[in-house]
Amino acid sequence: MKLTVEPITLKLGTPFHIAHGVSVARDSVLVHLENGVGEGAIMPYYDYTQADVVAYLENLDIDRVLVEGPLMLEDALDCLPPGPSPALNAIDIALHDFWAKKLGYPLYRLWGLNPKDTPPTSVTVSITKDETAFKQRLRAKKDFPIIKLKLGTGDLAADEEIVRVAHAETSSLLCVDANSAWHVTEAAQIIPKLAAYDRLLFIEQPLPREDVQDWHRLRALLPPKMPPLIADESAQNSGDILALAGGADGINIKLTKAGGLREARRMITLARTLGMKIMLGCSIESSVGITAAVHLAPLVDYADLDGNLDVVNDPYIGAVMEKGYFRYPTAPGLGVSLR
Ligand SMILES: [Mg+2]
Repeated sequence: MKLTVEPITLKLGTPFHIAHGVSVARDSVLVHLENGVGEGAIMPYYDYTQADVVAYLENLDIDRVLVEGPLMLEDALDCLPPGPSPALNAIDIALHDFWAKKLGYPLYRLWGLNPKDTPPTSVTVSITKDETAFKQRLRAKKDFPIIKLKLGTGDLAADEEIVRVAHAETSSLLCVDANSAWHVTEAAQIIPKLAAYDRLLFIEQPLPREDVQDWHRLRALLPPKMPPLIADESAQNSGDILALAGGADGINIKLTKAGGLREARRMITLARTLGMKIMLGCSIESSVGITAAVHLAPLVDYADLDGNLDVVNDPYIGAVMEKGYFRYPTAPGLGVSLR
Protein backbone atom coordinates (compact mmCIF):
# COMPACT_ATOMS: atom_id res chain seq x y z
CA MET A 1 0.00 0.00 0.00
CA LYS A 2 1.14 3.53 -0.74
CA LEU A 3 1.63 6.23 1.86
CA THR A 4 1.93 9.77 0.49
CA VAL A 5 3.48 12.47 2.63
CA GLU A 6 2.55 16.10 1.94
CA PRO A 7 4.28 18.87 3.90
CA ILE A 8 2.19 22.07 3.91
CA THR A 9 2.48 25.62 5.24
CA LEU A 10 -0.71 27.10 6.66
CA LYS A 11 -0.90 30.86 6.27
CA LEU A 12 -2.74 32.96 8.85
CA GLY A 13 -5.02 35.92 8.15
CA THR A 14 -3.90 37.67 11.37
CA PRO A 15 -0.49 37.22 13.10
CA PHE A 16 -0.94 34.85 16.06
CA HIS A 17 0.85 36.29 19.12
CA ILE A 18 1.20 34.21 22.29
CA ALA A 19 3.77 34.07 25.11
CA HIS A 20 5.94 31.69 23.03
CA GLY A 21 6.24 34.16 20.09
CA VAL A 22 4.46 35.45 16.98
CA SER A 23 3.47 33.31 13.94
CA VAL A 24 2.23 34.45 10.53
CA ALA A 25 2.25 30.87 9.19
CA ARG A 26 2.66 27.39 10.67
CA ASP A 27 3.96 24.15 9.20
CA SER A 28 2.00 20.95 9.10
CA VAL A 29 2.20 17.55 7.41
CA LEU A 30 -0.62 15.68 5.71
CA VAL A 31 -0.41 11.97 5.10
CA HIS A 32 -2.57 10.00 2.67
CA LEU A 33 -3.21 6.27 2.97
CA GLU A 34 -5.47 5.04 0.15
CA ASN A 35 -8.69 7.04 0.87
CA GLY A 36 -7.61 7.96 4.42
CA VAL A 37 -5.99 11.24 5.42
CA GLY A 38 -4.24 12.41 8.57
CA GLU A 39 -2.42 15.51 9.77
CA GLY A 40 0.38 16.26 12.18
CA ALA A 41 0.62 19.97 12.97
CA ILE A 42 4.00 21.35 14.01
CA MET A 43 4.01 23.55 17.11
CA PRO A 44 7.13 25.73 16.90
CA TYR A 45 7.81 25.67 20.65
CA TYR A 46 8.28 21.89 20.88
CA ASP A 47 11.36 19.91 19.85
CA TYR A 48 10.58 18.62 16.35
CA THR A 49 10.50 20.11 12.89
CA GLN A 50 8.44 19.51 9.78
CA ALA A 51 11.50 17.72 8.32
CA ASP A 52 11.59 15.30 11.31
CA VAL A 53 7.92 14.48 10.79
CA VAL A 54 8.30 14.00 7.03
CA ALA A 55 11.38 11.78 7.56
CA TYR A 56 9.50 9.52 10.01
CA LEU A 57 6.52 9.12 7.69
CA GLU A 58 8.63 8.58 4.56
CA ASN A 59 10.60 5.83 6.30
CA LEU A 60 7.50 4.09 7.67
CA ASP A 61 6.96 0.54 6.36
CA ILE A 62 3.18 0.80 5.96
CA ASP A 63 2.77 -2.78 4.71
CA ARG A 64 4.29 -4.00 7.97
CA VAL A 65 1.95 -1.70 9.95
CA LEU A 66 -1.09 -3.07 8.09
CA VAL A 67 0.04 -6.71 8.15
CA GLU A 68 -3.17 -7.78 9.96
CA GLY A 69 -5.33 -5.66 7.61
CA PRO A 70 -6.96 -2.21 8.01
CA LEU A 71 -9.79 -3.49 10.24
CA MET A 72 -7.30 -4.50 12.94
CA LEU A 73 -6.74 -0.88 13.89
CA GLU A 74 -5.23 -1.57 17.32
CA ASP A 75 -2.68 -3.98 15.80
CA ALA A 76 -1.75 -1.40 13.17
CA LEU A 77 -1.27 1.32 15.82
CA ASP A 78 0.81 -1.08 17.95
CA CYS A 79 3.16 -1.56 14.97
CA LEU A 80 4.10 2.11 14.73
CA PRO A 81 7.70 2.70 15.82
CA PRO A 82 8.30 5.55 18.30
CA GLY A 83 8.71 8.95 16.66
CA PRO A 84 7.82 12.64 16.83
CA SER A 85 4.27 13.04 18.19
CA PRO A 86 2.96 14.99 15.12
CA ALA A 87 4.16 12.15 12.85
CA LEU A 88 2.42 9.56 15.04
CA ASN A 89 -0.66 11.76 15.07
CA ALA A 90 -0.76 12.05 11.26
CA ILE A 91 -0.54 8.30 10.69
CA ASP A 92 -2.90 7.50 13.60
CA ILE A 93 -5.59 9.80 12.13
CA ALA A 94 -5.10 8.39 8.62
CA LEU A 95 -5.41 4.81 9.97
CA HIS A 96 -8.60 5.76 11.87
CA ASP A 97 -10.06 7.41 8.74
CA PHE A 98 -9.18 4.42 6.58
CA TRP A 99 -10.61 1.99 9.20
CA ALA A 100 -13.88 3.89 9.65
CA LYS A 101 -14.36 4.23 5.89
CA LYS A 102 -13.95 0.46 5.52
CA LEU A 103 -16.65 0.02 8.18
CA GLY A 104 -18.83 2.69 6.55
CA TYR A 105 -19.54 5.01 9.52
CA PRO A 106 -18.23 8.32 10.85
CA LEU A 107 -15.66 7.81 13.63
CA TYR A 108 -17.83 9.27 16.40
CA ARG A 109 -20.57 6.77 15.51
CA LEU A 110 -18.15 3.84 15.71
CA TRP A 111 -17.18 5.09 19.18
CA GLY A 112 -20.87 5.45 20.15
CA LEU A 113 -20.55 9.18 20.84
CA ASN A 114 -23.42 11.66 20.65
CA PRO A 115 -22.60 15.01 18.99
CA LYS A 116 -25.19 16.61 21.32
CA ASP A 117 -22.76 16.04 24.22
CA THR A 118 -20.17 18.34 22.62
CA PRO A 119 -19.47 21.50 24.64
CA PRO A 120 -19.33 24.81 22.73
CA THR A 121 -15.85 25.64 21.52
CA SER A 122 -13.95 28.70 22.61
CA VAL A 123 -12.32 31.05 20.11
CA THR A 124 -8.97 32.65 20.82
CA VAL A 125 -8.02 36.31 20.86
CA SER A 126 -4.23 36.51 20.88
CA ILE A 127 -2.01 39.21 22.40
CA THR A 128 -1.86 42.67 20.87
CA LYS A 129 -0.45 45.87 22.35
CA ASP A 130 -2.95 47.93 20.32
CA GLU A 131 -6.04 48.29 22.54
CA THR A 132 -8.25 49.45 19.66
CA ALA A 133 -7.31 46.38 17.61
CA PHE A 134 -7.85 44.17 20.69
CA LYS A 135 -11.35 45.57 21.22
CA GLN A 136 -12.12 45.11 17.52
CA ARG A 137 -11.06 41.45 17.69
CA LEU A 138 -13.23 40.96 20.78
CA ARG A 139 -16.24 42.57 19.09
CA ALA A 140 -15.71 40.36 16.02
CA LYS A 141 -16.12 37.33 18.34
CA LYS A 142 -19.07 38.64 20.37
CA ASP A 143 -21.43 35.94 19.06
CA PHE A 144 -19.23 33.14 20.43
CA PRO A 145 -20.21 31.79 23.86
CA ILE A 146 -16.60 31.46 25.10
CA ILE A 147 -13.58 33.65 24.33
CA LYS A 148 -10.08 32.49 25.19
CA LEU A 149 -7.60 35.24 26.02
CA LYS A 150 -3.89 34.72 25.56
CA LEU A 151 -1.90 36.17 28.47
CA GLY A 152 1.82 36.09 29.22
CA THR A 153 2.81 39.52 27.96
CA GLY A 154 5.75 39.56 30.38
CA ASP A 155 3.97 42.08 32.62
CA LEU A 156 1.41 40.90 35.20
CA ALA A 157 -0.41 44.24 35.22
CA ALA A 158 -0.77 44.11 31.42
CA ASP A 159 -2.07 40.52 31.66
CA GLU A 160 -4.70 41.57 34.20
CA GLU A 161 -5.61 44.56 32.00
CA ILE A 162 -6.35 42.20 29.08
CA VAL A 163 -8.91 40.40 31.24
CA ARG A 164 -10.39 43.65 32.56
CA VAL A 165 -10.87 45.07 29.05
CA ALA A 166 -12.29 41.82 27.68
CA HIS A 167 -14.67 41.47 30.62
CA ALA A 168 -15.98 45.01 30.04
CA GLU A 169 -16.13 44.62 26.25
CA THR A 170 -17.98 41.30 25.91
CA SER A 171 -20.64 39.32 27.71
CA SER A 172 -19.20 35.95 26.59
CA LEU A 173 -17.67 33.53 29.07
CA LEU A 174 -13.90 34.00 29.27
CA CYS A 175 -10.94 31.69 29.77
CA VAL A 176 -7.26 32.58 29.86
CA ASP A 177 -4.07 30.86 28.72
CA ALA A 178 -0.71 32.08 30.05
CA ASN A 179 1.28 29.62 27.87
CA SER A 180 3.85 28.89 30.64
CA ALA A 181 4.59 32.59 31.24
CA TRP A 182 4.38 32.94 35.03
CA HIS A 183 6.59 31.66 37.82
CA VAL A 184 4.91 30.14 40.89
CA THR A 185 4.94 33.36 42.92
CA GLU A 186 3.64 35.42 39.97
CA ALA A 187 0.88 32.88 39.32
CA ALA A 188 -0.07 32.90 43.02
CA GLN A 189 -0.29 36.69 42.84
CA ILE A 190 -2.36 37.09 39.65
CA ILE A 191 -4.70 34.09 39.76
CA PRO A 192 -6.82 35.30 42.74
CA LYS A 193 -7.18 38.68 40.97
CA LEU A 194 -8.36 37.01 37.77
CA ALA A 195 -10.68 34.75 39.80
CA ALA A 196 -12.51 37.87 41.01
CA TYR A 197 -13.98 38.34 37.52
CA ASP A 198 -17.22 36.42 37.11
CA ARG A 199 -17.57 34.52 33.83
CA LEU A 200 -13.96 33.24 34.06
CA LEU A 201 -14.19 29.53 33.21
CA PHE A 202 -10.61 28.35 33.74
CA ILE A 203 -6.91 29.29 33.71
CA GLU A 204 -4.64 27.37 31.37
CA GLN A 205 -0.92 26.62 31.79
CA PRO A 206 0.00 29.34 34.29
CA LEU A 207 3.42 27.75 34.88
CA PRO A 208 6.49 26.67 32.89
CA ARG A 209 6.49 23.07 31.79
CA GLU A 210 9.83 22.05 33.33
CA ASP A 211 8.92 21.20 36.94
CA VAL A 212 5.65 19.40 37.61
CA GLN A 213 6.08 20.05 41.37
CA ASP A 214 5.42 23.74 40.65
CA TRP A 215 1.74 22.87 40.13
CA HIS A 216 1.58 21.50 43.67
CA ARG A 217 3.56 24.47 45.08
CA LEU A 218 1.12 26.84 43.37
CA ARG A 219 -1.90 24.96 44.70
CA ALA A 220 -0.56 25.29 48.25
CA LEU A 221 -0.23 29.07 47.80
CA LEU A 222 -3.72 29.66 46.34
CA PRO A 223 -6.93 30.20 48.29
CA PRO A 224 -9.58 27.49 47.86
CA LYS A 225 -12.28 27.79 45.16
CA MET A 226 -10.17 29.16 42.33
CA PRO A 227 -11.31 28.55 38.73
CA PRO A 228 -9.93 25.22 37.43
CA LEU A 229 -6.23 25.23 36.51
CA ILE A 230 -5.70 23.34 33.24
CA ALA A 231 -2.33 21.89 32.19
CA ASP A 232 -1.48 22.17 28.49
CA GLU A 233 2.29 22.31 27.83
CA SER A 234 2.77 20.23 31.03
CA ALA A 235 0.40 17.49 29.77
CA GLN A 236 1.85 16.10 26.55
CA ASN A 237 0.56 12.53 26.80
CA SER A 238 -0.89 10.02 29.28
CA GLY A 239 2.50 9.62 31.00
CA ASP A 240 2.29 13.20 32.34
CA ILE A 241 -1.14 13.06 33.97
CA LEU A 242 -0.64 11.20 37.25
CA ALA A 243 2.03 13.63 38.51
CA LEU A 244 -0.22 16.61 37.73
CA ALA A 245 -3.28 15.29 39.59
CA GLY A 246 -3.94 17.30 42.74
CA GLY A 247 -1.93 20.27 41.39
CA ALA A 248 -3.75 20.85 38.13
CA ASP A 249 -7.53 20.42 38.00
CA GLY A 250 -7.55 19.33 34.38
CA ILE A 251 -5.59 18.73 31.21
CA ASN A 252 -5.72 20.16 27.71
CA ILE A 253 -5.38 17.30 25.22
CA LYS A 254 -4.13 18.07 21.73
CA LEU A 255 -3.83 15.30 19.19
CA THR A 256 -0.51 16.56 17.86
CA LYS A 257 1.03 16.47 21.36
CA ALA A 258 -0.53 13.13 22.25
CA GLY A 259 0.47 11.42 19.01
CA GLY A 260 -3.02 10.55 17.84
CA LEU A 261 -6.61 9.68 18.64
CA ARG A 262 -5.84 6.46 20.51
CA GLU A 263 -3.44 8.15 22.91
CA ALA A 264 -5.92 11.04 23.33
CA ARG A 265 -8.62 8.54 24.34
CA ARG A 266 -6.22 6.97 26.85
CA MET A 267 -5.59 10.44 28.29
CA ILE A 268 -9.34 11.03 28.59
CA THR A 269 -9.83 7.73 30.41
CA LEU A 270 -6.96 8.31 32.83
CA ALA A 271 -7.86 11.94 33.58
CA ARG A 272 -11.52 10.99 34.18
CA THR A 273 -10.42 8.21 36.52
CA LEU A 274 -8.45 10.80 38.48
CA GLY A 275 -11.46 13.15 38.61
CA MET A 276 -9.81 15.76 36.38
CA LYS A 277 -11.46 18.11 33.89
CA ILE A 278 -10.76 17.54 30.22
CA MET A 279 -10.21 20.16 27.59
CA LEU A 280 -9.64 19.31 23.95
CA GLY A 281 -7.44 21.85 22.21
CA CYS A 282 -5.57 22.23 18.97
CA SER A 283 -2.76 24.12 17.35
CA ILE A 284 -2.88 26.00 14.06
CA GLU A 285 -3.94 23.17 11.74
CA SER A 286 -6.08 22.40 8.73
CA SER A 287 -9.62 21.04 8.84
CA VAL A 288 -8.16 17.50 8.82
CA GLY A 289 -6.60 17.81 12.29
CA ILE A 290 -9.46 19.89 13.67
CA THR A 291 -12.14 17.50 12.39
CA ALA A 292 -10.29 14.51 13.86
CA ALA A 293 -10.43 16.21 17.26
CA VAL A 294 -14.12 17.13 16.82
CA HIS A 295 -14.97 13.41 16.63
CA LEU A 296 -13.70 13.07 20.25
CA ALA A 297 -15.28 16.27 21.52
CA PRO A 298 -18.46 14.69 22.99
CA LEU A 299 -16.17 13.18 25.68
CA VAL A 300 -14.74 16.44 27.02
CA ASP A 301 -15.69 19.35 29.30
CA TYR A 302 -14.17 22.18 27.27
CA ALA A 303 -13.50 22.36 23.53
CA ASP A 304 -11.00 24.78 22.02
CA LEU A 305 -11.02 23.79 18.38
CA ASP A 306 -10.63 27.00 16.41
CA GLY A 307 -7.16 26.38 14.94
CA ASN A 308 -8.36 26.29 11.30
CA LEU A 309 -10.52 29.42 11.44
CA ASP A 310 -7.83 31.95 10.56
CA VAL A 311 -6.01 29.70 8.05
CA VAL A 312 -6.42 31.29 4.61
CA ASN A 313 -5.20 28.26 2.59
CA ASP A 314 -6.87 25.32 4.37
CA PRO A 315 -6.88 22.57 1.72
CA TYR A 316 -9.80 20.68 3.34
CA ILE A 317 -13.39 21.12 4.52
CA GLY A 318 -14.58 19.10 7.51
CA ALA A 319 -16.64 19.74 10.64
CA VAL A 320 -18.12 23.22 10.30
CA MET A 321 -18.32 25.48 13.34
CA GLU A 322 -20.99 28.12 13.73
CA LYS A 323 -20.82 30.49 16.70
CA GLY A 324 -19.04 27.90 18.82
CA TYR A 325 -21.13 24.87 17.83
CA PHE A 326 -20.00 22.15 15.41
CA ARG A 327 -21.98 20.53 12.67
CA TYR A 328 -20.64 16.98 12.55
CA PRO A 329 -19.79 15.36 9.23
CA THR A 330 -22.09 12.50 8.24
CA ALA A 331 -19.79 10.79 5.71
CA PRO A 332 -17.83 7.68 6.80
CA GLY A 333 -14.46 8.12 8.47
CA LEU A 334 -13.31 11.64 9.34
CA GLY A 335 -15.75 13.08 6.83
CA VAL A 336 -13.32 15.60 5.37
CA SER A 337 -13.03 16.44 1.69
CA LEU A 338 -10.76 18.57 -0.46
CA ARG A 339 -11.92 22.17 -0.59
MG1 LIG B 1 -2.73 26.34 25.67
